[in-house]
Amino acid sequence: MKNFKISYLILLFLFTWSCSEEETRQEESSTTKEAPIMQSAQREGLKPIGSGVMMQAFYWDVPAGGTWWNTLDTKVQDWSNAGIDAIWLPPVSKAQNGPFSMGYDPFDYFDFGEYNQMGSVETRFGSRTELTNMIDTAHQYGLSVIADIVINHNSGGDLEANPYTGTNTYSDFNPLSGNFFRSATDFHSNNIHANDSGAFGGFSDLCHDQAYVQDWLWKNPNSVAKYYRDVIGFDGWRFDYVKGFEPWVVKDWKNEVGGFSVGEYWDSNVSTLDYWTGAAEASAFDFACYYKMKDAFMGNNLNALNDNMLWKQNASKAVTFVTNHDTDEITNNKILAYAYILTHEGYPTIFYRDYEEWLNKERLNNLIWIHNNLAGGSTTILHVDTEEYVAKRNGYNNDGLVVYINNSDSWQERWVETNWSNTVIKDYTGHSSWEPTTQSGKWVKIQAPPKSYSVWSLK
Ligand code: ZN
Ligand code: ZN
Repeated sequence: MKNFKISYLILLFLFTWSCSEEETRQEESSTTKEAPIMQSAQREGLKPIGSGVMMQAFYWDVPAGGTWWNTLDTKVQDWSNAGIDAIWLPPVSKAQNGPFSMGYDPFDYFDFGEYNQMGSVETRFGSRTELTNMIDTAHQYGLSVIADIVINHNSGGDLEANPYTGTNTYSDFNPLSGNFFRSATDFHSNNIHANDSGAFGGFSDLCHDQAYVQDWLWKNPNSVAKYYRDVIGFDGWRFDYVKGFEPWVVKDWKNEVGGFSVGEYWDSNVSTLDYWTGAAEASAFDFACYYKMKDAFMGNNLNALNDNMLWKQNASKAVTFVTNHDTDEITNNKILAYAYILTHEGYPTIFYRDYEEWLNKERLNNLIWIHNNLAGGSTTILHVDTEEYVAKRNGYNNDGLVVYINNSDSWQERWVETNWSNTVIKDYTGHSSWEPTTQSGKWVKIQAPPKSYSVWSLK
C-alpha cells in the first residue's frame, strides 16, 4: 500500500465561453489496491482473468434457433486480439422455456442441448457440441470462459403433493440427463426452514442447506461445478441473483472448484456490496458505479463521479460495467461511460451489443488498449464539475495516464498536475493533436473535445 500525498489546490479559471467556472480542488479518490486483479488461470495458455477486459457475450433475446454458440465462435479470435481476456456466456443448460429460453429458468443442469425435453433438443444457443467447440476456440485464443450460474431457483418441475406446504407444488424434477433429480425437500419450504434470503418471482427456490443439493451443485465429482469445469471447460463463474441466497454458497462453491467468481448483487449500496464480496470471497458487479455513471452521463452531472463506488472501496473485487442484458438501453453518452470504466480501477466488462452493434468498435478497441497498457495503479481525481472530469492513474508497471472527460458542447482545456516533469505527453485516443511538455512542477495544459474524452500519457 502506498501513501498518498493529499494536496488540496485551489485553481481559479475564467472561461468566457464555457458555462460556469468555479473553485475546484484536487481530490483524493480512495484506493485500496494498486495491482489489477490477477488470478492464475487454471488452463494452460489462458490470459490471467483481470489482466484485460471481460466481454459479456450475449444480450437479452439473442437470435433463437441454435446459432449463438457458432456466432461467438467466429468472434473470439478478434476479441482476444483486441485485449479481451474472458467471455461471459448466458446459462448453457436446458431451461423450462426450451428453445426460447435465455437460460434463467433452469430445469436440467446437465442438458447442454442434447436431450429432447422442454420442446427441443438444442438450447436457444445451440447444441452441446457447438458449445464445447466454441469454448475450445476461446481457449485456443487465450480467453477464459465464464459460466452464468443460476442456482437460486429452478423451473419446469412436475406437480407433486408437497408435505411441507400441504399443497401441490411444481417441485418434482426428473431431468432426462439422469442427473440431479429434485423434489419438495430440495426447495423452500422444507424440513430445514421456510426460506432463504430471497426467492425470484414464483420460481421453485432451491435450498442450499440440503446436503443433497450441495452434493449435486458443487461437492460431488459429477457436480454441476466440477462437470462444468472439467468436462465442458468453464474457467470462472458469474452467479445470478445472489440476493436470493446466502454468500457462503458462493464461497463454498469457489473453495471447492476455484476459478474467478463474480456475483450479481443488484444493489447500489457500496457497504452492502463490499460486505457481500467479503462474505462470499468473490467479486461483485459494481452496481454503485453503474448508478453513479447514470447520474453523471445520462443525468449530465459529472459530480456524481465523486461519490463512492465499489471499485473505490475495494478495486480488486469490483467488476465494472456500463450496461448488461437486463439494462441494455442506448444512451448518447455511453462512450463516455466506457472511457470512465476502461481508464479506472476494477475489472471492466464490455456489453456485446455495444461492441458489435451500437458503438464505434475502433474507439472501444482503443480504450481496451489503453486499459491494458496504461491504466495501472491507484487513482487520483484531479478535477470534477458538472461537465468536466479529470483523473489520473498513478501507474503500476506502466506509466499511468490522465483521462479528461468532457460532457460539454465545446472543446475544453485545463491545467492539471500530472506525475511527470519535463516530459512530452500525447493523447492516446488521437482526439487531440497536442503534444505538450509538462512543466518541472509536473503541471501541463490538456484538452478534450466536446461530448468526448482524451487520455494522456508519455509520448
Ligand atoms: Zn434453504
Ligand atoms: Zn433463494
